[in-house]
Amino acid sequence: MIIPPDKFNKLKSIANKPLANDPPNSTDTRSRAIRYQQKRIWTFDNDTLKVDNLFAAARLNGLSQNSENTFTALIMPENEPINRSPWFAFRIWSAKERIIDLKMNYRHITPHRYHPKISVDGVHWKSIDFEDFSFDLKTGRAGFRLHLPAGELWVAAQEIIDSKQVYAWINSLDKFSYIKKIKFGLSHHKRPLIALNIGTENTKKFVVVLNRQHPPEITGHLAMESLVETIAGGTDLARKFRQKFTTIVVPMLNPDGVDLGHWRHNALGADLNRDWQFFRQPETLAFKKFFSKSIKQNQANLYFALDFHSTREDVFYVFRPEFIAQNAPHLTQKWIKSIGAAIPNYKIRQEAFGSDSPISRNWFFREFGADAVTYEVGDDTDRKTVKMKGRVAAEEMMKLLLKQEKS
Ligand SMILES: [Zn+2]
Repeated sequence: MIIPPDKFNKLKSIANKPLANDPPNSTDTRSRAIRYQQKRIWTFDNDTLKVDNLFAAARLNGLSQNSENTFTALIMPENEPINRSPWFAFRIWSAKERIIDLKMNYRHITPHRYHPKISVDGVHWKSIDFEDFSFDLKTGRAGFRLHLPAGELWVAAQEIIDSKQVYAWINSLDKFSYIKKIKFGLSHHKRPLIALNIGTENTKKFVVVLNRQHPPEITGHLAMESLVETIAGGTDLARKFRQKFTTIVVPMLNPDGVDLGHWRHNALGADLNRDWQFFRQPETLAFKKFFSKSIKQNQANLYFALDFHSTREDVFYVFRPEFIAQNAPHLTQKWIKSIGAAIPNYKIRQEAFGSDSPISRNWFFREFGADAVTYEVGDDTDRKTVKMKGRVAAEEMMKLLLKQEKS
């Protein structure tokens, strides 16, 4: 899937501008109960057009017909305040081929973020053509034209990867002798929280990979898959790495949010990646207990922590230079440099922060002395590129950590 980046420039110029009503990072939304969408089928034109949200990860709160071929879709967040990242996902069935225009209504929450994706089977996705996409610079609202086939068309903000697919991916890795699947707890809605333990020996050197605290962040998920598959792969490098290092992977920390079609929060309406000082959420608390215990039992040290997310472009969120990790000093900077050297013409972007905010990166740094990175992948980065970078990121990380092992 290739999206011409220039097409998105006008969108980004608006989208990146902070608004006065943006929630501060630490807003506590626990008292703001989530609003469930009604699961239903909307029917129009004598049942020749049906639209539904009856599947995991769907998000459609309302649909109205304005004129023969024009409709407005209402998309609401689980609660507020919330980041301006409207997630939408629904399925359309049409008796015949036809063209409809859809206006997206996110109420006061603008601008639109994701370039729409379509699929005829819910598995294989492509972006809609830019000619079919419209964006109002003044209001930040979007609309798009859909060329409906006779039959089903899935429409979503990004490719849908629901909890069932993630569990299936976890099981596909669980078959290797050096990978153990560990259920370390349950989400608020009792979905299993799973970690993969990758490594052949009982090592004392740990790496941790976190993913999907934020449900719609699919490109981060794709990068995580590629990185983990490389660590779990058949190369000499990966084999050596698995003898010396144990990698703990949590492929989906927020399964409720994923399946509820949430924009950002868990089933209790909280942003998990703002809970790493308080541990007031079942998912972060379960991870904290499990991970702290694993480190303690193995008398292990944590060398590197990666937390995968998506944003408007590829960027690494790192620590400012004065924040030097105890266990692998300067690992992140060496790693970023070697990724840059391994991928021709890749100008790596990074942004540096302190360690104060209640996000996972800071917890790994403060609690375990590990260097830690928030690995952000662009919403529109070409999917093959996302995978390639994930693989290279894994290779360079393994090389650096093994090299440091020897010295
Ligand atoms: Zn995120």
